[in-house]
Amino acid sequence: MKEGDIKTLFHECVKWYFFNRIAPQYNPNVIYVHEVTQCLKKSYFNRKMPIEPITSKMVILTIGELIHKLFQDYLEKKGFKFEVECRYPLENQLTLIGHADAMNSDCIIEIKSVKKIPSSPLEHHVLQLNAYMYMANREKGYIIYIDKINGGFEVFECRRDYRKFGKIVERAYQLHEALLKGNPPNEETSWLCNYCEYRIICKSEWL
Ligand code: SF4
Repeated sequence: MKEGDIKTLFHECVKWYFFNRIAPQYNPNVIYVHEVTQCLKKSYFNRKMPIEPITSKMVILTIGELIHKLFQDYLEKKGFKFEVECRYPLENQLTLIGHADAMNSDCIIEIKSVKKIPSSPLEHHVLQLNAYMYMANREKGYIIYIDKINGGFEVFECRRDYRKFGKIVERAYQLHEALLKGNPPNEETSWLCNYCEYRIICKSEWL
């Protein structure tokens, strides 16, 4: 084999892992928690015009997934379940679904690999964990941030907040309606736009 063949092999390997193990399969009667804790317009685009992530982004997402696996093997021995599906019925046969990273009878744990550990948990991560705490009826939740550059980590405790869950439910209805009507939600501009695959078409007039 030549150098180019190995590069192709690596690219295909990452692509295979991403599409077989990570990329979500969407159902029109289901709204996923991760879709409503990020920009709704981005979630709309993800469903209406999915874009294959560039290889480097697939690698980053795959590394994040592998860090989860590292925890999974050990925490399962300690009584945790991994990738637990949480469901919450909404109106009009719509269901809100999310997958909590790890859960036992006492709490839920979300694991986030980041380039820099924040001084307090990021709002979209808190919203996600809080939703799982409601859907799975757990009072306590923890976010573990792992610094994938230098190996540091930090743990933040979160308590259930009903108002935050109400916001998630409201956003699930908003996204569902936007998808049904084919009408993109408003932009939710933030620093996360820098990492959004749709930033070029986000403001295009034809939309
Ligand atoms: S660029 Fe920003 S506002 Fe536009 S879809 Fe992406 S995340 Fe949303």
